[in-house]
Amino acid sequence: SQVKPSDQTKTWALEAEQEFRLEVDFNAAVILRLVSGTAEVFGAELGAGTSYHFSGQKAAVFTWHGCTLEIQGQCNVEYVAGETPMASYLNLHTVLEQQRANVPLLPTDSSTGSSSATSFGPNVMLIGPTDAGKTSLAKILLNYAYRHGHRPLFVNLDPAEGSIVMPGTVSAAPIEHIIDPEDELDSISLDKTGQVSTPLCYHYGFPAITENPKLYGLLTAKLAQSVQARLAQNHMARRAGCIIDTGGVIDPAHYDLLRDCITDLKVNIVVVLGHERLYSDMQKMYAQSGTVTVVKLAKSGGVVNRDKDFMRRCQLRTIRKYFYGSSPQAEYSPFSTIAYYQDLKIYRVEDSIAPTSALPIGLDRKVSETRIVPMEPNLGLIHSILSVSSLDATEDESQLLESNVAGFVYVSALDEKKAKKKMTLLAPFPGRLPRKYLLYSMFNWMEM
Ligand code: ADP
Repeated sequence: SQVKPSDQTKTWALEAEQEFRLEVDFNAAVILRLVSGTAEVFGAELGAGTSYHFSGQKAAVFTWHGCTLEIQGQCNVEYVAGETPMASYLNLHTVLEQQRANVPLLPTDSSTGSSSATSFGPNVMLIGPTDAGKTSLAKILLNYAYRHGHRPLFVNLDPAEGSIVMPGTVSAAPIEHIIDPEDELDSISLDKTGQVSTPLCYHYGFPAITENPKLYGLLTAKLAQSVQARLAQNHMARRAGCIIDTGGVIDPAHYDLLRDCITDLKVNIVVVLGHERLYSDMQKMYAQSGTVTVVKLAKSGGVVNRDKDFMRRCQLRTIRKYFYGSSPQAEYSPFSTIAYYQDLKIYRVEDSIAPTSALPIGLDRKVSETRIVPMEPNLGLIHSILSVSSLDATEDESQLLESNVAGFVYVSALDEKKAKKKMTLLAPFPGRLPRKYLLYSMFNWMEM
């Protein structure tokens, strides 16, 4: 989908604190330009005259002081809204800036004079139902922090979105550049040269938290531990703090997951978006805490529900970007490599579908939810995305789930005709697959 020069151009004039909301289909494209004034997309300023390409996106162009925009191509939905929660979002950012300013620039520890890990900036967790605007607010807070010279850590606990690197994972990475208006968050794992940096990333393998809450809890605890270890060594990162996006947990049965993440990630501000009961419950839970403040912010009227098909296409785009880069204008090609079945060690999380009654006495159903079993490669693996563990295949596989994911490969072909069965893998890095464990996930990828 490309914008043709013959496509119609429309001009929109926005007054101060208005936003232009647009939805563009996956098979359509538009070009947006800022003609005059100032404007931002989820906290990232637009450059005057720059062409921004949108396709398969729902977004808002907000202006604090008024602007004129030019749009070329066909939007699915396009309108100007005067009522937005942006002022309250900016307020929150101001509070976070204050907290950062309260942490001294130089690490001081009165007793030893060395770095103190006890003082840290705002660790903000955004909670609420799916499609409440959590990820959008995360982008706004990250971009505003970046524009003030901070490099906060973005923590993504939503395995469906996979916003840092890949769906089916929980991950964390520092914000090293502004989150581009055209891009979804996934591109933060790629630096400007298209290299994949290594974020902290753990393999979950399912899109929904409810699919395996036990494993999810284990992985978020592990991620939190790694985040804390990283922050302990970097005073400025501690000062900048963390912005934590979550995956639509609102069922009280899963509050323990939220509570554990809040404790483990040393969260001091919980922001509830668009859910009264969740807000009230969280307030009760932390009324006496003294360290955790719970605040409620309005959901933007612009937030749109994404249906299954849209989500799936977003996931496919994220996967594609991992292998081909984020710029359609400057794609790089992934590397293809052959791996023989005999050299592969693929594992998957053991099926937890067995009802408790079907298990041997004494074996709790929960046990199997975090256990991995070896998997014979088979033709069903075609189109799968496999996580490449950072654990060396000579090491004990019991640590597999708790080890960082080093990268991902895509199974593009299988050949079982010859005696030496083999598969063709795509990877963003060249060379033979190192002797690593691979983890199977529910996600696969096909060109659409
Ligand atoms: P959540 O993270 O809570 O599931 P998102 O922040 O991902 O919600 O928002 C859902 C969808 O709505 C996304 O596609 C996002 O780009 C879009 N969106 C969010 N805020 C706005 C807005 N003000 N105007 C238009 N679209 C928006």
